Amino acid sequence: MDYQPRLDDIGRLLFQTLQAPQQLQSLAPYAETDADLMQQVLDEAGKFVASEIAPLQRVGDETGAHFEAGRVTMPPGFRAAYQAFWQAGWPALACAPEDGGQGLPAVLEAVLYEMLTAANHGWTMAPGLLHGAYECLKHHGSEELKARYLEKIATGEWLATMCLTEAHAGSDLGLVRTKALPQADGSYRISGGKIFISGGEHDLTDNIVHLVLARLPDAPPGPRGLSLFLAPKLLPDGARNGVHCERIEEKMGLHGSPTCVLRFEDATGWLVGEPGKGLNAMFVMMNAARLHVGLQGIALLEAAWQKASAYAAERRQMRAPGASETSLIQDHPAIQRILHTQRAWIDGGRLLAYRTAIELDMIKHHPDAARRDAAQRWCSLVTPVLKTAWTRQGFLGASECLQVFGGHGYVREWGIEQIVRDARITMIYEGTNEIQAIDLLVRKVLPDGGTALGALLDTLASETPLPADVQQRFDQLRALARRLTQASASQADLPYWVADDFLQALALALLGWAGARIGSALPDWQTPARALHSWVLPEFGLRMQIIEQQIPETGTTAA
Ligand SMILES: Cc1cc2nc3c(=O)[nH]c(=O)nc-3n(C[C@H](O)[C@H](O)[C@H](O)COP(=O)(O)OP(=O)(O)OC[C@H]3O[C@@H](n4cnc5c(N)ncnc54)[C@H](O)[C@@H]3O)c2cc1C
Repeated sequence: MDYQPRLDDIGRLLFQTLQAPQQLQSLAPYAETDADLMQQVLDEAGKFVASEIAPLQRVGDETGAHFEAGRVTMPPGFRAAYQAFWQAGWPALACAPEDGGQGLPAVLEAVLYEMLTAANHGWTMAPGLLHGAYECLKHHGSEELKARYLEKIATGEWLATMCLTEAHAGSDLGLVRTKALPQADGSYRISGGKIFISGGEHDLTDNIVHLVLARLPDAPPGPRGLSLFLAPKLLPDGARNGVHCERIEEKMGLHGSPTCVLRFEDATGWLVGEPGKGLNAMFVMMNAARLHVGLQGIALLEAAWQKASAYAAERRQMRAPGASETSLIQDHPAIQRILHTQRAWIDGGRLLAYRTAIELDMIKHHPDAARRDAAQRWCSLVTPVLKTAWTRQGFLGASECLQVFGGHGYVREWGIEQIVRDARITMIYEGTNEIQAIDLLVRKVLPDGGTALGALLDTLASETPLPADVQQRFDQLRALARRLTQASASQADLPYWVADDFLQALALALLGWAGARIGSALPDWQTPARALHSWVLPEFGLRMQIIEQQIPETGTTAA
């Protein structure tokens, strides 16, 4: 069974719970974007995903990308599907009309990519970085570079990569060694080795635009010495640039996406943004990418849930409590617990992720500075939570869904094991989950003593009457943020010990809020609501207890 977009489920959250069209119509570029238009776009997107992309899921995994003599051939059907994708205008959905885009809200793009990933994670890796590359170039590129590359990237006619990682420089990009030598004509010669570059070479598009972190000759060591460059596979005169694919990785999953080792050998490139501000320019790309990785977690969980639910509705084994004959496995409480728990995570995650996409548009287009600040706060605090907690649940929940199949899940026939293998990477790339948790607590919560977090929780409380348990979790988190701020003043390593538990506690508090919000808008959301309260939210108390135990009474390190 291929994944089927379930637009009714998505639409209920988007239109009934979030009232997305009403919120977005207050922004000038979307004054005409009403619910009918949004529904129409989603219907067409759903049809495209189901008919063109989902059927390529198995071949992408089994045949995979193939490397030979510097060239990468994508699995059968991938190129044709990609050509159809960009020519139908899908990559340009949320790009500005002046760049060849359709000027639609970011949330529609978020839903499109959620559906694409659920249908075929490997294929979706190819266009997955396009929008980030577009934003990066739009904000930081020179007029000349924009004239040459922006529209090609906006429309997806050419694909883009993000070349950060090197063999010795993963999470610590300050260690990047790739060099860029200035040339008399204003260009640069780039030399060095990059690894793990998604889509570094392929046959989906004629040209590939690489965004590369490298170091100028006089650059200081560390992250401040990094600059960003654009180096295309084909130069403007059509000649091949000095970017060589040396091999692609053999990996656990995601076989439809070539993970490339690239050698830059005197490759011609041009500076994007200012010298030494490469990471700043890259962050535009990485932040957009992080929301999309959170959505990948949600998407893969939905794909796994769909398969497991369909199987549970057909397979009969033993008698469920109180039944007089052999039951469908969906009637066994143990299986219901698994399925309903994942449903709660999916719906709660969607609410938070779609809302984050709406907030991204608020940052760009809202006329009121205070509202823009609130949107910025939302994105800064909620994005790492989505990236981390929902990729974790994407993998763990997909594994639970595999359990619903018993031994039939462990063999290839049903395709559920592919989802588990594919989902694992989401916890690692775009900043590992450990780095995200540290980013949240050390850089975003503690520096102001928890004030921004408190303001976010105030906003949430003002939007929906809070049930007592949600209010209590919010109060506990506020108090904890204050306590951790004080304790870490004398215990500098404390936040690093507790960052993961703190992020998970915040994720559960947000999920509890999302559940309350969905429950009040959709009265029939009772089964996931019960699962949420019975089997998910109690973990909040455990996480709080773990953190409390790490806060020493007397200032000695708890390890
Ligand atoms: C399939 C795939 C696709 C990828 N695509 C791209 C791409 O397109 N472009 C690109 O540039 N890169 C890409 N990457 C690279 C990916 O972003 C890195 O693997 C990731 O950033 C982690 O770096 P690393 O693998 O070197 O691990 P390391 O940084 O060595 O980390 C190892 C472990 O140590 C932990 N750790 C490291 N530092 C800290 C710290 N300060 N505090 C706590 N824990 C820490 C990490 O969380 C991790 O658990 C891809 C990787 C894969 C596997």
